[in-house]
Order: sequence, then structure tokens, then C-alpha cells
Amino acid sequence: MSKTTPEWADEIAGRLAGLVALRRDFHRHPELSFEERRTAEIIAERLSAAKLEVRTGVARTGVVGVLRGDRPGRTIAWRADIDALPLSESLDLPFVSATPGVMHACGHDGHAAIGITLAEMLAARRREVPGTAVFLFQPAEEIFGGAKPMIDAGALDDPRVAEVYGLHLTTQAPVGRVTVRPGPAMASADFFDVEITGRGGHGAYPHLSVDPITVAANILLGMQNLISREVAAHETAVLTVGQIVSGTKHNIIPATAVMRGSLRTFTPTVRAQVKERLGAYARDIARAYRAEARLSFQGEGCPTVVNHAPQSTFVRNCAAAELGGDAVKGESNLVPASDDMSLFLQARPGCYFQVGVSPVSGPTRPHHAPEFEMNEDGLPVALRIAASVMLGALRG
Ligand SMILES: [Zn+2]
Ligand SMILES: [Zn+2]
Repeated sequence: MSKTTPEWADEIAGRLAGLVALRRDFHRHPELSFEERRTAEIIAERLSAAKLEVRTGVARTGVVGVLRGDRPGRTIAWRADIDALPLSESLDLPFVSATPGVMHACGHDGHAAIGITLAEMLAARRREVPGTAVFLFQPAEEIFGGAKPMIDAGALDDPRVAEVYGLHLTTQAPVGRVTVRPGPAMASADFFDVEITGRGGHGAYPHLSVDPITVAANILLGMQNLISREVAAHETAVLTVGQIVSGTKHNIIPATAVMRGSLRTFTPTVRAQVKERLGAYARDIARAYRAEARLSFQGEGCPTVVNHAPQSTFVRNCAAAELGGDAVKGESNLVPASDDMSLFLQARPGCYFQVGVSPVSGPTRPHHAPEFEMNEDGLPVALRIAASVMLGALRG
């Protein structure tokens, strides 16, 4: 456990205005996954100015900064994602998105600003910093595309990282609340397509056709039964079909239909179980209707975020020391959203935790919505815990 106060409290207070300004600048200039060129440029400039060793173009638009402290210690990574979403912002603030159709609606503008400020803060007091801090600015989290190529590019190997930490700001919790969940914490996500092949014909003569829309409807309902009848009651999975495409007109039976959906689970066992059964379900239900169905998954998907127990206890203790025990009191629910921080946590022990930024009053501001907005009072809280976690972990 490592309480940053009071030595670091002044440092954080002094950087607060800059932190908010930086977050607002990123918010004003959001960039989509793998297009974070301006964002990456600013990150690289700031880290270079703070005299970190900087690598750019890691996983295309990612940035890695290495800070070597003057005292002996361990090598610890801090991961921040930096991409925005294809959404049109509906709020009227001076720093709303200047790019039509693109918006920071998940808080990654805050993550980037916190990561930079944390690096600058530690760099400014390098003489007191033990070990080596590695800052991973990851692109393309929203499409689960950035973590794997960063790891493949050696982001955790040079220098060899012992543990990895990071945080997600959340409007689901008030300012001052920190959510740390050991074990499975966030869902896996897999996207799938079901292609159904029937036989087209006249709407008045269905017996001469094989109707793929009827097949799609039955597969859709059957899939939910798969979840309720084959997944154990103490486990859970979420299956959503978000798109069905078929047909042209009232009275024509089409020849094909396509369904697109997502599967979310919280353990590798359930994930593997449902993934394996889904294909057979779709195929065999289609067969009963004389049609054919082929289910395919898009890419490798995103595994469950599984936090390591000792590192989760450590983060919890840091947050309690900084903010008081109430900040981490109570149960932390499983988060049904997904995050490819999971891949870093498969590669190294660590913990990914959530820090509250919900507004004090007024409507809720859901992530991935045009009206998303964070309470910036949560930013210094997040920075303080991040500093505490990094200093404590570096010291070991
Ligand atoms: Zn998101
Ligand atoms: Zn996010």
C-alpha cells in the first residue's frame, strides 16, 4: 500500500487545470480506431518533452513511453486507451467534438489525459521514482483491435513488464467511488453472423419454397433457449441479435437471410461452451425447416477481463488509503461491457479498475450515447489513485 499524500497531493493539485484542458482538447478532436494520429502526436510530444523514451507507430497509432526512475524498483506498465466512437455529440459545450460524426463517448479522452499527466508527474520527480514505468497508449480499443498488435510488437517485453494496471472512467458510479473486482470483471465479446439459405418463391405458395425468414425467427428464439437451458444457473451469458437482413417485398419469399449478433460471457468455459453449441443450434434448427444455416464468428473476439487477486487487493488498498474506506465499500458488479485490456491481463498479472465520473444531478450519461458527458471532478481522483498504484507497484 502506498499513500501518495501529502507529498504528491500538491503535485496533483498543481496539474489539475492542465489535466482538464488536455482532456477537453482530446474531446474537441476525437479520432476513430486506428486513426488516432493527432492524439498520438500530442502524446509523443508531451512524453518526449518530459524526457521519456518514446516509441511511436506501435500497433499503427499507439505510443509507448518508458520512464526510468533514479531509484531501484520493478518495471510496471500503465495502459490507457485513446480512441473515439462514430457518434454525433448532442451536448452544447464549448469543447464538443469539432469532427462531425466522431465523438469521445466512452471517456478515452480522459484516459489519455490521465496517462500523460501521470507520466509527466512521475518524470518531474524522477529522483524519487523507483523502477521503470512503461506507459502504453493503446489505439482501437473500441473495435478490440489495438491490444493484440501492441503486445505482438513487444510493448510488454522491452523493457520486460512485471505487472500492468489501468482504469476506466465510468458514469455508472459517482465521483469518489472506485470499483475493483478480483477475478472476472468485464464480459468477453464475440460477434457472429448466421447465413441462412432457403429457396425463394411466391408468398402465396410457401410449400413450394423454403422460407429463410421463418428459419431466422426460430433460430433467434432457439438461441435464447440455448442460454437458458444449457448455461448453468450460477453462470451467465448475454446473447443479442442486433440485425436481421432479408427480403424485398410483402409477397416474395426470399432465398436468403443474414443474422448478426453478439455473445457476452464472464468465464472462458461458458464462452467456449456457447460458442461451440451456437453453430450446431443454428444448423440443426435450419435443417428442421429444410434450410441450411452457417454460423461464423468474426475474428478472435475479446476475452473476459480477469483481474488477478493480489493486484486487485493492492489497488483496493491504494484507493482506500487515498480516499478512505467508503470509496471501495460494497460489492462490485460484473460489467457486461468488454475491453481488450483483457489481453494485457492474460499476458501479465495486474488489475483494471473503474473510477466514478457520474454527474452530481441531472440525467444519467450512458457511455456510447450522444449525450455522454463525464463529471471532470473525477479526473483528479483518478490521477491520484493511478499515481498511488504506480508508485506502490514500482516500489514493490
Ligand atoms: Zn467504449
Ligand atoms: Zn471504453
